[in-house]
Amino acid sequence: MMSVLEFFRNLPKKHCSNCGNVIQEKADCYGNICDECDHPAR
Ligand SMILES: [Zn+2]
Repeated sequence: MMSVLEFFRNLPKKHCSNCGNVIQEKADCYGNICDECDHPAR
């Protein structure tokens, strides 16, 4: 039986749809854009 931690470890990493960087695990409200591309000051 797989633990919850194992389950999350096996999830595929998201990649920014704009620059292709790996998106760190965080709230999903950013969609498929990384912090760099989602920065409001840019
Ligand atoms: Zn990006």
